[in-house]
Amino acid sequence: KKKPASFDPSSVVCWEKDKPVPFLFLCLAFDMINEESGRIVITDIVCNLLRTVIHATPEDLVPVVYLSANRIAPAHEGLELGIGDASIIKALAEACGRTEQQIKIQYKEKGDLGLVAKASRSSQSMMRKPDALTIRKVFKTFHLIAKESGKDSQEKKKNHIKSLLVAATDCEPLYIIRLLQTKLRIGYAEQTLLTALGQAAVYTEEHSKPPPEIQSPFEEAAKIVKKVYSVLPDYDKIVSALLKDGVWELPKKCDFTPGVPVGPMLSKATKGVSEILNKFQDVEFTCEYKYDGERAQIHFLENGSVEIYSRNAERNTGKFPDVVTAVSRLKKTSVTSFILDCELVAYDRTKQRILPFQVLSTRARKNVALSDIKVDVCVFAFDLLYLNGQALLQENLKIRREHLYTSFDEESGFFQFATSTTSNDVEEIQKFLDKAIDASCEGLIIKTLHEDATYEPSKRSLNWLKLKKDYMENIGDSLDLVPIGAFHGRGKRTGVYGAFLLACYDNDNEEFQSICKIGTGFKEEVLEERSTSLRSKVIPKPKAYYKCGESINPDVWFDASEVWEVKAADLTISPVYRAAVGIVDSNKGISLRFPRLVRVRPDKAPEQASSSEQVAEMYNAQKHNHNDKQDDNEDD
Ligand code: ATP
Repeated sequence: KKKPASFDPSSVVCWEKDKPVPFLFLCLAFDMINEESGRIVITDIVCNLLRTVIHATPEDLVPVVYLSANRIAPAHEGLELGIGDASIIKALAEACGRTEQQIKIQYKEKGDLGLVAKASRSSQSMMRKPDALTIRKVFKTFHLIAKESGKDSQEKKKNHIKSLLVAATDCEPLYIIRLLQTKLRIGYAEQTLLTALGQAAVYTEEHSKPPPEIQSPFEEAAKIVKKVYSVLPDYDKIVSALLKDGVWELPKKCDFTPGVPVGPMLSKATKGVSEILNKFQDVEFTCEYKYDGERAQIHFLENGSVEIYSRNAERNTGKFPDVVTAVSRLKKTSVTSFILDCELVAYDRTKQRILPFQVLSTRARKNVALSDIKVDVCVFAFDLLYLNGQALLQENLKIRREHLYTSFDEESGFFQFATSTTSNDVEEIQKFLDKAIDASCEGLIIKTLHEDATYEPSKRSLNWLKLKKDYMENIGDSLDLVPIGAFHGRGKRTGVYGAFLLACYDNDNEEFQSICKIGTGFKEEVLEERSTSLRSKVIPKPKAYYKCGESINPDVWFDASEVWEVKAADLTISPVYRAAVGIVDSNKGISLRFPRLVRVRPDKAPEQASSSEQVAEMYNAQKHNHNDKQDDNEDD
């Protein structure tokens, strides 16, 4: 289908202009998306949805965008619905005049409480039929649910859910429940929403004229919205600026703001020192230890408040009160505000050494009191994005680092600058890598210092290259993959899953593509843990956006929910698995040989798993290195 340039938003407006948008309008769009698998068509549907809202009731664009993203607020605000299945089941039972037991039985059959809700429909008799749901009402109720706290909060949350379900018709109950569970998962991700928002903005009448230098306005507008979102992930601000000044003015109106975390810059994998030297020929670069802990972006504002954000922009301040104290104490007095990019690493202060990531992961997640801390943490600082009211993103790393070094005092075991060296000698870099490994680091990150050395938010950049210790032995880097199915265990493994089907994520098509089965290398307790955790994620059939290959038939399918870090011996072309299909070979995918689980990555969402593009890059790099191997092997 072509872009619907001739689409007339007024022709589908089924509500009075400037009156609240019916919730059903959004739900029917979700239904349409659910039926589609083509990226362009889905983007068109979302674009038309947004155009229609802009045309008729622009005031509702913010809630429409949030609900379409299955969010209720920006991640950094930490506003969570906090609802368990139990409250939903209770609300459903009461709204539909059924028992909880009946709901639970049906839930088991259907594997999706949304589908149970849709099938149940309200059977409560009422004197007066409730008014039709509007997007505003649903969004407002979600906020009320999130803000309920303290005694009776679960009961109050349940009553809010019930009030929505009682008024819901058609497919609305399905989406109310899925939105509440943050499991909309109808086969599109936030990137499509951002593209559609950019395209919809081009169509709006007042601001439709692009500057003369812009050749492809729709593409350009999508790029602008995505870029702006990477530095300011806040739909309230972006949507109001779009409506007020149009998409071409957006970069001027929505910029990096302290207090709102930017997407972290990421690195690309490499196969060895010589590849790095080839890539960074003639440019100045630095090698830093790659610490194995938790990424943190620390915001210190003029008013003295400190917030710590995770790699996913979630507020982590309550987990690290010791880090809040350390950075406040060790910043120089001349420093009034900053944003620091760093790795938080478990540290033994007596023996003065770094502890493994697994030790860090034993720390409690919320409301930690300083007196309860058993695992100490050292901040390893490697970048400074903002200092005393000035954004530094556009400065090169050399300058950012000078600011970093002069803004803080180091204190061993509390706050240290990432260890680094500058050299372009293969042997020296190799020795530095060995030193990093001896110091319990994962390897090195090599960064451009001067040219092409700005901070690139949310980007896996070629200007940051990672070099891990085992690059010689296997494929250079581990992969982050999503379990989407499993096979029942037999013999000793009866009662747990015996093997899992893993997938990578294709960003262009927004689909999970199968890459391998994994069944060996699990410790018994890990297998038990993963099986228990995934058992609650079983779905009756694979999602339309799982691409698996016809001959792969796991016993159960899972909702994509976890990310596992996996190492493998190598990558091979496969006629069965679908990873990166169409990139390296038009019909065949790529699969992993001898995969083994390293750890679970709770800091990554399924859509942040290794991308098909990365898998293809790794395959090509390996091919380049070995220039042989058993292509066309089937590893099953
Ligand atoms: P990995 O699984 O290797 O951590 P990733 O996908 O999380 O991969 P990468 O881009 O591969 O991210 O590696 C960058 C990560 O390494 C950062 O997110 C950060 O947490 C960590 N890190 C440790 N030391 C550094 C450093 N000196 N500079 C930048 N990042 C570092």
